[in-house]
Amino acid sequence: MRRSLWVGGFFMLIMAILPARLPGESDPVQKYRSILWDHLTALCDLGPRYPGSEGHAKTRAYIRNVAERYADSWKEQAFVARVGYAEELPLYNYELTFKGTGDKPPILLGAHYDTRPFADEESNSQKEARPIVGANDGGSGTAVLLAMAQYFHENPPERTVQLVFFDGEDWGRKGSDEYFLGSSYYAEQLKKEDKSTWPARVLVVDMVAQKNLKIFKEQYSFRSSPSFIEFVFDTAKELGVDQFVPMLRYSVRDDHLPFIYMKIPSVLLIDFDYPHWHTLEDTLDKCSADSMLAVFRVVLETVRRV
Ligand SMILES: [Zn+2]
Repeated sequence: MRRSLWVGGFFMLIMAILPARLPGESDPVQKYRSILWDHLTALCDLGPRYPGSEGHAKTRAYIRNVAERYADSWKEQAFVARVGYAEELPLYNYELTFKGTGDKPPILLGAHYDTRPFADEESNSQKEARPIVGANDGGSGTAVLLAMAQYFHENPPERTVQLVFFDGEDWGRKGSDEYFLGSSYYAEQLKKEDKSTWPARVLVVDMVAQKNLKIFKEQYSFRSSPSFIEFVFDTAKELGVDQFVPMLRYSVRDDHLPFIYMKIPSVLLIDFDYPHWHTLEDTLDKCSADSMLAVFRVVLETVRRV
């Protein structure tokens, strides 16, 4: 009796230390590591990508190109935001749709592709006025979505997926309400549609490329969508993705808020412990392909299981 228990325990231990995949078994997600990195590099090469800049126009062309190549259908949502003293700011969201093989309601995966027009976390006033490259903030979420476009083209999802690239997330001055302009507009338009067409879940990724990535549970997500955030973190745990730490940390106002107001379960994945946030130092050398791949894996598996 004691012996067989011991033997059973021994096998359980073996099971616990075996990797999820055996050596030689191919990992269909691993190839996206370099695809993620190539997208992030290409975005950073375009320079600052704030609305109205040359980099922004080039980023839009880049997204359209990926959409044309991989999406089942896509649309540009162009609109004009009123900012500052009645200034008109043209903005553009992009929605890429990948038709599900099943009939579950869609899931929306979102990220902002604009970058901050000024480095207002710099202590030097000369630097403060300059636009940031936003490798992590603006670049990383966009790279994740761009790589997903290829993934869902090659591996059609069971549930319809909408990849939405939001504009104008990082436009506003501190203390203003001129943040997440693109996602707010997108949500306003969605409210005019029949509820049956709304996404059942919203998952937003932002600032997910830094080295030593640690993603904690964001507080607005946790309070509004507790079972969905548990689901995401349980998925990360089962995959053995240890960049996800199942503890509460920051409250971050981001592109998930307009959907939370619509009572759609919505989660933001972000690592807000980033010393280069809103500075000129938010550059490619602070980023890691492995960090993005970790988030990519968890999001894909969440889409598959939820
Ligand atoms: Zn930002």
